[in-house]
Amino acid sequence: MKTLLKGGTLVDDAGEYRQDLLIMQGKIVRRAPQIEADETMNIIDARELLVMPGGVDVHTHFNIDVGIAQSCDDFFAGTRAAACGGTTTIVDHMGFGPPGCTLHHQLEKYHRDAVEAVIDYSFHGVIQHVTPQILEEIAPMAQHEGISSFKFYLTYDYMLHDEDVLNVLQRLNEAGALATVHPENDAAIRWRRQQFKQQGKTAPVWHAHSRPLACEAEAIARAINLARLADNAPLYIVHLSNGLGLDYVRMARASGQPVWAETCPQYLLLDINRYLRPDGLKYILSPPLRPCSERDKLWVGIANGAIDTLATDHCNFPYRQRQQMAANDFTRCPNGLPGVENRLALLFSEGVMKGRISRSRFVSLTSTMPAKLFGLWPEKGSLQPGADADLVLFDPRRQQIIHHADLHDNGDYTPYEGFCCQGWPVMTLSRGTVVCREGRFTGQAGHGRFISRKPFVTGSHL
Ligand SMILES: [Zn+2]
Repeated sequence: MKTLLKGGTLVDDAGEYRQDLLIMQGKIVRRAPQIEADETMNIIDARELLVMPGGVDVHTHFNIDVGIAQSCDDFFAGTRAAACGGTTTIVDHMGFGPPGCTLHHQLEKYHRDAVEAVIDYSFHGVIQHVTPQILEEIAPMAQHEGISSFKFYLTYDYMLHDEDVLNVLQRLNEAGALATVHPENDAAIRWRRQQFKQQGKTAPVWHAHSRPLACEAEAIARAINLARLADNAPLYIVHLSNGLGLDYVRMARASGQPVWAETCPQYLLLDINRYLRPDGLKYILSPPLRPCSERDKLWVGIANGAIDTLATDHCNFPYRQRQQMAANDFTRCPNGLPGVENRLALLFSEGVMKGRISRSRFVSLTSTMPAKLFGLWPEKGSLQPGADADLVLFDPRRQQIIHHADLHDNGDYTPYEGFCCQGWPVMTLSRGTVVCREGRFTGQAGHGRFISRKPFVTGSHL
């Protein structure tokens, strides 16, 4: 079956083109100012619409077990929501497994968990403890099993200490895998939480005060310096939430160090005042929401290129469940926010339509750069012939107010309830198949395929 997108404006990370686009067997096969339609083709009228590479969200947590709770979006519901928002590939961060488990234990679990995904997917490995055997598992996974990035944490029960971090960074670099880090200073957080608990400060806002931006910035600086010490190992900072951390990233890059940064819509659009609302528990996540001034600094990074990618860190615990578990104590609340469905619409509206970034920069942040950094390009994140026909069609004139009732996850709220978006995704194609049209899910469980990602090569992201 052939599909012809006619009359649209193609937008990629390099520019805009008034071209038709022809799809055959799930691939983009041709682009030209005019492609004649014939009766073998399914025609999609793209006049007045922008045709862009489908979103690549490289930070989700579907079906995650965080010990005290299980997130409500499995790979089916999570990818259904992603697809309906214009995202066509996700790379999920594996959760921690049982104490002492191998890297392959979690990889096998995630392969089983993800079979019902409706769009293409891959996983980041997670390193929760370090032994010679764990280090030995890294290279085969990166080179042969499609897992070319791993995450480690500097906080939580499975945090790594500096010597382990150095060993892991060195081994990942040798193996062709990108290190990703959750940077927060664990001791500082525990110290502050203990003090607040003793003082009875357990309302949601104390979550934010228990892990202020210095906790994050310190750990970012430390991770960057450890990476430098480990033969300049490449390093990707996940969910950057503040300006000081961004300054450290900027300094490292100015000196030529291979460091990249990701931020999320919640840090660009929400702030610490949310915790003061009666429903403040809805916003418990780590790092927490920051003072307004930090948002402005992140927007500067989004505009000038200091921030490379926008992901969501989608991790959905219903408000109902948060209230049951943590009504009087923020420390009992599972951490995370939903958001996978609205990432593109929010950045398009707040970034492009408000004049902060170009449409090509939008594509770079949401699709092309994440695809390049994580071994998915040029099959993903590109409109060149040969690429997968993973596309989102945006109507820049469409105004839409976000309501959870219209979304496709299994939760019971969105942190963006009532946000008015200018510009909206009206159709999503996954390898040529329409998986969402006008807000209606038209895809199928199991359509998504595991993407065996290419090893990381320094310079390949350029
Ligand atoms: Zn995360």
